[in-house]
Amino acid sequence: MASMKKAKFIIKKMSAGLVKSLKKVGNVHVLSRIIIWIAVAMVVIALGVVCFYRPARDAVFSTETHTIVHVKSGDTLSKILGEQGFSMRDIDAISKNLKKDAEFTTLRAGRDKIDFVRENENAPISKIVIENGPWNKIEIDCGTPSTWQCQKIEIARDTRVAFKHGEIAKGSSFYLSAMEAGIPEGVILDVYDLLAFEMDFERDIRAGQKFYVLYEENFSSDKKVDNGHILAISFDALRGNVQMYRYVKPDGKSGYYDENGNGAIKSLKRTPINNAKITSSFSGKRKHPVLGYTRAHKGVDFRAPTGTPIPAAGSGRVIARSYNRGHGNFVKIRHNGTFETLYAHLSKFAKGVNVGTVVRQGQIIGYAGSTGMSTGPHLHYEVIKNGVHVNPMTVKLPAIDNLDANNKKIFMEKKAQIESTIKSLQDNPNQIVRLGDTEQKKDKK
Ligand SMILES: [Zn+2]
Repeated sequence: MASMKKAKFIIKKMSAGLVKSLKKVGNVHVLSRIIIWIAVAMVVIALGVVCFYRPARDAVFSTETHTIVHVKSGDTLSKILGEQGFSMRDIDAISKNLKKDAEFTTLRAGRDKIDFVRENENAPISKIVIENGPWNKIEIDCGTPSTWQCQKIEIARDTRVAFKHGEIAKGSSFYLSAMEAGIPEGVILDVYDLLAFEMDFERDIRAGQKFYVLYEENFSSDKKVDNGHILAISFDALRGNVQMYRYVKPDGKSGYYDENGNGAIKSLKRTPINNAKITSSFSGKRKHPVLGYTRAHKGVDFRAPTGTPIPAAGSGRVIARSYNRGHGNFVKIRHNGTFETLYAHLSKFAKGVNVGTVVRQGQIIGYAGSTGMSTGPHLHYEVIKNGVHVNPMTVKLPAIDNLDANNKKIFMEKKAQIESTIKSLQDNPNQIVRLGDTEQKKDKK
């Protein structure tokens, strides 16, 4: 208020001065007088503005202070609150309210931060803001008396779609060619995961193979925050063009499907031959029927008369087509960086199946028999995960999911929508495109 008094004093003094000088020039033209009076009025208004807007200016140049704590590994909410001087009782009350009102579960190291807000640097903490990922904020009111009221604030997410395409350069990898095409690393890794059972990214890559990815980008106030789902992939694999489309069923479950609406996430079949009876299970130890002594059975035996066609349990590349004393005629297929399968005691190999042949899931690779160390015709089937034999009947495999007729119909409509989006982004890559019905990607755990 002192400043206001001062300003009023200045105005008074200035006005008095002006009046004096005006009296001296009392005989000047009327127009000049008017101009002088307008000038005086403007000075008065300007000074008034300065005085009356002082409080508002104070609010803009606030003295509010922020202590921002970045969550590190090993940090807990209690630990961080304790370090800021909160008592055990307050910490308990805050935790309870967080769970109840904001469905808060846990802090994530390296990602979350907590802002402790004070009115000024000497005031007690008035507000705690937990930034729980880029899309969630929780504000805790620390007013007196402290009720620790929590409010969850969701940050509006603007999901747009991006289209990137490229081609494997000579001597290059998919990874480098995809980076070259401007595909973000996280999206490339998602592509690897989706195509894992379709192709071997070390051995099935050739110069000139074309690919594209349509994926979501999440924006907040026009700033890109992260990438969302992959919506469509196309890859010229060795065995032909592979296409995948993301589809969200009416019940909210999502999956990837090929251009015909069949489940695109290929996996391994636990039993390569349908309805075959298991005659010997996988076990760490068992008495070998021929050798007589106890030895691990590294696979599963299926009853199969000689000549029964044996299909590949999954698509991949044949890495062995050979004979040994134990397995007899056998075929080994590498499906991806993780899985290999082996088929033993075959009477003969299928035509055209050689080391290096790329096979599809279900393609016949040989015929059942009793070659090698075997007591009768059967298929001995092994699954090798990261170099270790695992039980084909229990190993965790991605589910193979097919759509029913109704979902297939909706899928085809969505696919057409995705295709027209791709076309329009190809024609005009700089436009902003949103697909209204793609549900938002939750933060990765
Ligand atoms: Zn066996």
